[in-house]
Amino acid sequence: MNYLPGSVSLHTWGYHHGIHPKHWKYLNPTCGGKQQSPIDMKTSKVKTDTRLWKFDFSKLSTSKNVKFEITNNGHTVQVRVISHGLEVSGGGLPGTYNVEQFHFHWGSEDKRESKHEINGKHFSMEMHVVMHFDRFSSVNESMNITYGLAVLGFLFDVGRHNHKFDEIITHLHDIEHKDDHVILTSFSLTSLFPSTDCFYRYYWSLTTPPCFESVIWTIFKEHIDISEFQSSETVPTSRKNTL
Ligand SMILES: [Zn+2]
Repeated sequence: MNYLPGSVSLHTWGYHHGIHPKHWKYLNPTCGGKQQSPIDMKTSKVKTDTRLWKFDFSKLSTSKNVKFEITNNGHTVQVRVISHGLEVSGGGLPGTYNVEQFHFHWGSEDKRESKHEINGKHFSMEMHVVMHFDRFSSVNESMNITYGLAVLGFLFDVGRHNHKFDEIITHLHDIEHKDDHVILTSFSLTSLFPSTDCFYRYYWSLTTPPCFESVIWTIFKEHIDISEFQSSETVPTSRKNTL
């Protein structure tokens, strides 16, 4: 549970937060754990880390030659990146990462909630953008490598209608059964993002041997708005939150 090795240039972009590992007592870096509990971030314990500079999302800002496939994988709605070149760097990452997929988390239908909490507060939904280190070809190949994976986490508030999610939400009816999948009309991934200047950072080990510190987690401070109607559209009974 360490910060990234090596030197990183100092930047003064807004204020970026890193949570010092010593405050993450509830994280279990040892082997043998079976389940990752939801993580509650106590903002009073967040330490600013000036080594975490702004992300470079420029490669995600185009919809040209971008191809997404939305799938019901039996656990959640997953949007797979079929095209190549959706790369992310910066943000204190130790290199370039390729986006492989993004997916959504809800609680059960009667208790919709995110995987992460902020000061004990749950959110209506959460989106995870899953990336692998670019020296490897997939998430599967990278998951046993230290810092092999990086996940961008976005929390949702129920508020105003967010038309940026229309393309995803309108296709949910086409994938009501496991393994159903549909190609989406191209859009830029960053069009789904809120402001990404401020974020929380922590590192997560795999819970099975050899327990490499494989996942670099980023949770953005700014939330995504979605309407109550859109939020209810996203939770069919056949989809269960397990990831
Ligand atoms: Zn997830």
